Amino acid sequence: MSASASKGTALITGASTGIGAVYADRLAKRGYDLILVARSQQKLSEVAARLKPLGRKIETIAADLTRKEDVQRVAERLSTDASITALVNNAGTASVAKLLDAKIEDLESMINLNVTALTRLALAALPGFVARKNGLLINIASVVALAPELLNGTYSGSKAYVLNFTQALKNEVEGKGVTVQAVLPGATATPLWEKAGRPVEHLPAEIVMTAEDMVDASLAGLDQHELITIPSLPDIADWEKFEAARKALGPNLSHQKPAARYGILG
Ligand code: NAP
Repeated sequence: MSASASKGTALITGASTGIGAVYADRLAKRGYDLILVARSQQKLSEVAARLKPLGRKIETIAADLTRKEDVQRVAERLSTDASITALVNNAGTASVAKLLDAKIEDLESMINLNVTALTRLALAALPGFVARKNGLLINIASVVALAPELLNGTYSGSKAYVLNFTQALKNEVEGKGVTVQAVLPGATATPLWEKAGRPVEHLPAEIVMTAEDMVDASLAGLDQHELITIPSLPDIADWEKFEAARKALGPNLSHQKPAARYGILG
């Protein structure tokens, strides 16, 4: 395939396997040059070699995004390279252990990656996007953001953070030429599950989507200007009802006096 006009460069974290590698393929096909980030240089090089026939410029950056200095290196690139027009904040790990059995170091490392690195990279990219009135930020959350009963609360909490962060960002960048999207995949067939100690084959097949279908649906959601994309959800009205119920709480979430049912006089 010959190179068509570039849409600029998309920096994709966690692009060496799974969902990130599919984003790399699809965004290259949409006309983006690529900067692929993950820890494994070898796997990044394999992805880059696979995508070479698409004719886009592809660079790889080996970085461990649980390490502050590595995050800083990638953030520096995002804040100084005006050719970057898209960031896919995708790198993430999961924890499926029971909370009382989990190793705190593993949980901390997951939070560093899923929350801290994602935040730093978004905030490194956004000022340039706003200044140039052009930018796309895709944050990969998860449906467990809406389901703390599934898995343990640390992974779902990290993904609830991504959802919350994206919804707040949307308000800040509205009208500034910047598009933001949070994607909430359900179970997706990637190496993530095996790494977390529960191979995806152990899940009922009917709840597991391929990474290709997940990313294609997410990009279709982006094309439909969705802020929140839930690839599995058949009826978007269900999400809208959920949001409406949440917002209906708004006027009563903060009052001078406790609610009458607590019987606090004064
Ligand atoms: P995956 O195949 O395990 O991919 C994770 C990617 O992140 C890999 O490229 C990995 O590469 C990279 N990564 C992991 N730790 C890293 C670190 N410390 N620094 C830099 N890169 C790191 O998993 P996936 O399913 O595609 O996950 C992608 C995103 O989707 C994650 O945010 C995940 O939470 C989310 N998600 C997945 C599912 C699912 O069911 N699979 C469902 C909902 C949401 P290296 O190991 O080479 O660093």
